[in-house]
Amino acid sequence: MEKDCAFCNIIKGENGADFVYQDESLVVFKDIRPHAPVHLLIVPREHIRSLNDIEEKDKDIIFRMIFKAKEIAKEHSIAKSGYRLLFNVERGGGQVIFHLHLHLLGGW
Ligand code: AMP
Ligand code: ZN
Repeated sequence: MEKDCAFCNIIKGENGADFVYQDESLVVFKDIRPHAPVHLLIVPREHIRSLNDIEEKDKDIIFRMIFKAKEIAKEHSIAKSGYRLLFNVERGGGQVIFHLHLHLLGGW
């Protein structure tokens, strides 16, 4: 946990968020500034700075994030209509929060 990280603070419960799912390795909550009717963030509990920082040991959490995105898309009835999964990587790629997260966007 990083004390100045907005997403670590959300995971610790120190900053309100609209959670839709939580387990021992990841959390899912609604994006505060949605860019689609359904816009959720899938976030590992572990503080990983960026996709550029993932290592071999992180392969399970990356798989879990993508698998959970697929399940949540189905639960939100957007699996068949379609959705986008997005990692913004570093500032030039649009990353603003430096705690790894996967955007799930859909419901147009
Ligand atoms: P990124 O540009 O990939 O770093 O995305 C960060 C996302 O986090 C943006 O879409 C923000 O709207 C969202 N965000 C920032 N702060 C919060 C918060 N406190 N609760 C929910 N979403 C947030
Ligand atoms: Zn963090």
